[in-house]
Amino acid sequence: MRYYSTRNRNNPVDFATAALGGLAPDGGLYIPGTIPEFPAAVRASLGSMDYREVALETIRPYVAGELPQAVLEELIQGAYPFNAPLIAVGDRLMLELFHGPTAAFKDFGARFMARAFSWLRRGEDKPLHILVATSGDTGGAVAGGFFGVPGIVVTVLYPRGRVSPLQERQIAGLGGNISALAVEGSFDDCQALVKAAFADVELRRRLVLSSANSINVARLIPQAVYYAAAAGKAARGRLDPDGEATPRPGNETLPRPGSGEGRGTGAITFCVPSGNFGNLTAGLYAMSMGAPIQGFIAATNVNRTVPDYLESGDYQARPSQATISNAMDVGAPSNFERMAAHWSWDELRRNIRGVSVSDDETRETIAEVHRQYGYFLDPHGAVGWRALDKAAVHGPVAVLGTAHPAKFAGTVEPLTGPVPVPPALAGAMEREPVAKTIPADIAALKENL
Ligand SMILES: *Cc1c(COP(=O)(O)O)cnc(C)c1O
Repeated sequence: MRYYSTRNRNNPVDFATAALGGLAPDGGLYIPGTIPEFPAAVRASLGSMDYREVALETIRPYVAGELPQAVLEELIQGAYPFNAPLIAVGDRLMLELFHGPTAAFKDFGARFMARAFSWLRRGEDKPLHILVATSGDTGGAVAGGFFGVPGIVVTVLYPRGRVSPLQERQIAGLGGNISALAVEGSFDDCQALVKAAFADVELRRRLVLSSANSINVARLIPQAVYYAAAAGKAARGRLDPDGEATPRPGNETLPRPGSGEGRGTGAITFCVPSGNFGNLTAGLYAMSMGAPIQGFIAATNVNRTVPDYLESGDYQARPSQATISNAMDVGAPSNFERMAAHWSWDELRRNIRGVSVSDDETRETIAEVHRQYGYFLDPHGAVGWRALDKAAVHGPVAVLGTAHPAKFAGTVEPLTGPVPVPPALAGAMEREPVAKTIPADIAALKENL
């Protein structure tokens, strides 16, 4: 597969270059030259395959000729010891994407990217040094994704005292090949330090530096997998059991989930809580590949740049506003450039409806869904749930649960009472965070790399 920059169709590169490079030299984002289609036999059996089999079929054409089949299979087995269950909640479906080690959907992209980097760099004598600045959530997913992966060391910079205790443990509690630096400053200071490090000639001579940010195409492609798998199941009316890891209390007086009957079968609509729009772009890839998907709802909080664009055709990036669904506080979504490179406004508008949801509506929804169904939504999933209330959709429809509600207990518990904590998060809370504090200063950062 050839990859191109969104800003220049003349310089194709291979998957390895696109993945390890992250951003194209001209500042654009890498996109695949064509979006491959599932063979008919694969499309027909998406609903009966195991998650890892769907992953193999989905990712294979994007890495063909570079990752041998056996390598890709092993990589997928290592990346995904967990599933993406599609369960019933009332008369709609939830696609739960929070059963990985950091309890958020970013595990799907980060874990594949980490293992792909490691294999692509095999045989190199210097380790690949990943530098990442985080305001909280991304750092945990990247640290967790790369933890214990051979040939790679990671340094995460986070603003000291400005991340939650859980986030700090997910970033600084792993040890091994993951180091944490608590910067005396803001997230912007952390980002400026990372930029300064990449521009530092002496440092670049000494270390092989790379980033792992969310625009990396190696994070995007594996996110198409859960759409294909869930669309396949929905087309056959097959649901996963409402398992133990699903955030419900064991209250037998509450209505139990249905069998999925009555929701109909056929092409599914996905409602995607969106910020940088990587997740939704991956959904569009799955749809273009031929997964039985009817369309998408792009659910945003008040940062409604994309819903406004879908309405008017006029794209206006703007400063972000803080909300309780803070992983979606993005006013200039970086993946918009990728969507616009693949599809026209008309094509996007035909397949996506944009809906924006306020913080008050989000809180109401968390309380109401818990009262009615005993199901805990996190603030991001709740934005998705409420967006669906505002959009009339026919046929099966699923909201993407992008994070486990226990990650946002401070917002959720006042509305619902105690949220059950999944084992992955309980384990993380028991770790001791070990971070070195540094001033927001490039000399201090260089001393610590
Ligand atoms: C990152 C994130 C989102 C937004 O995903 P995008 O791909 O940036 O649109 C939504 N919910 C949660 C919990 C996230 O961490």
